[in-house]
Amino acid sequence: MPLRSTQGAESRSVGLTNIKELIPDGLDGLFQGLGEPPYRKDQLLSWIYGRGVKDLSSITVFSKTLRQRLSEGFYIFTPPLLNIRVSRDGTRKLLLGMIDGEGVESVLIPDEGRLTLCISTQIGCALGCRFCLTGRGGLKRNLRAYEMMDQVLVAMENLKEGERITNIVLMGMGEPLANYKEVSSFLRLATSRHTWNFSQRRITLSTAGLPDGIRRLFREFQVNLAVSLNATTNEVRDYLMPINRRYPLEELLKTLRGLPIPRRRRITFEYVLIDGVNDSPEDAERLVRLLKGIPRKVNLIPFNPFPGSGFRRPPMERVLRFQEILRSHNIATFIRESKGVDISAACGLLRASSKEPLKINEQGG
Ligand code: SAH
Ligand code: SF4
Repeated sequence: MPLRSTQGAESRSVGLTNIKELIPDGLDGLFQGLGEPPYRKDQLLSWIYGRGVKDLSSITVFSKTLRQRLSEGFYIFTPPLLNIRVSRDGTRKLLLGMIDGEGVESVLIPDEGRLTLCISTQIGCALGCRFCLTGRGGLKRNLRAYEMMDQVLVAMENLKEGERITNIVLMGMGEPLANYKEVSSFLRLATSRHTWNFSQRRITLSTAGLPDGIRRLFREFQVNLAVSLNATTNEVRDYLMPINRRYPLEELLKTLRGLPIPRRRRITFEYVLIDGVNDSPEDAERLVRLLKGIPRKVNLIPFNPFPGSGFRRPPMERVLRFQEILRSHNIATFIRESKGVDISAACGLLRASSKEPLKINEQGG
C-alpha cells in the first residue's frame, strides 16, 4: 500500500510534469524544442543536483523567458523526507516519499572517518532470496535514475555540520543489475562533473550475481563490485537464492574469472552466515577453493533475523572459526556486524512498507 505524503506531488503538480521524469535522455529534446543549446541540460542538472534548487524559477543561469516557458509545463519534485531514525551506533535511516506515494529507504552509515550512503535501486526485489526481507515482498517497481539521485540529494541536505558523504553503496532494496538501464544512468549522473563529480572508486554495486550485467558493468564503469555468494554448493545456493538455478555457481565464478580486473582492485564477496545452513568449516574450505584465482576479499555478514524468517544467526564462535579458516588461506576476511540493527536499517531488513510508523522528520532511536 503506498504511503501518503503530506507534502509532495499532489498539491504542486496539478497539470505539471516533474521535470526529472525527462532525465537523462528526454532533456535533449526538451531544450532542442525550445530552441535552446544542448548545454542547457548540463546546467539544469547542475542546478538541481549540484546546487539543490527546488524551483525552476530559481535557475537564474536561464533567461527569464526560458524559466517562464519551463514553468508552464514543469516543476521540480523533491521527495519529502518522511522519517529519520537514528541508531545507537550513529546509523541513520531515511524514509523518502516518492512521487507515486511509494516509500524508499536509504541508510547513512558513519564508520571510521567515512560516511557511507546505502541507496535502494528498486522498490522490493524480484529475486526472492529466502534470508532477505526485501526479497520476501517481491518487486513493486524499478527506481528511476533520478530517484537514486534524489536519495543522495536528500541525504546530503540532511547531513550534520562538517559531514560529507564519502562513499555510496548500491546495497539497499533491490537488485541493481536487474535495473541496469536506470542504474547505469545513475552512475553516469552521480559521477558527472555537472553534479557531484563523485569518484567511481568510491561507489560499490552489490549484486546477487547476474553474469550479463556484471560483464557489462565492467565494460562501462570502474565502480567496485560486491557479489553476494552466500553458499558454497549449488544445492544450498539454489535453496537460499533462487537466481542460482538460472546462473549456477560455476557460471557466476567463470564470469568473475573472465573479468578484466585492474591491478590492485578486487571483488568483494559477501557471505551471509546462517546457523546450520552455510556456516560449517567444510563450507569455509569449499569457499577457499571456489575463490581461487580471483582477486578478492570476503565480508562475512552474520544473518540479521526478522520475524518468520525461519533462520538464525550462528553463535559468534562459529563466525570466528569460519573467518579463521579463510584467513589461514590468506583470504582477507572481515566480519561485518550490520549497523543499525535496532532501527531495522541493517542488510536485508529494508522494506519501506506502510507498516513503518510514519512521522514527519521524527528523530527516532
Ligand atoms: N540485491 C543485491 C543488493 C542488496 S542486498 C544483493 O543481493 O547483493 C545487500 C546485501 O544484504 C546482500 O549481500 C545480501 O546477501 C545481504 N542480506 C540480505 N538479507 C540479509 C539478512 N537478513 N541478514 C544479513 N544480510 C542480508
Ligand atoms: Fe534481492 Fe539482494 Fe534481497 Fe536477494 S538479497 S532478495 S537479490 S535484495
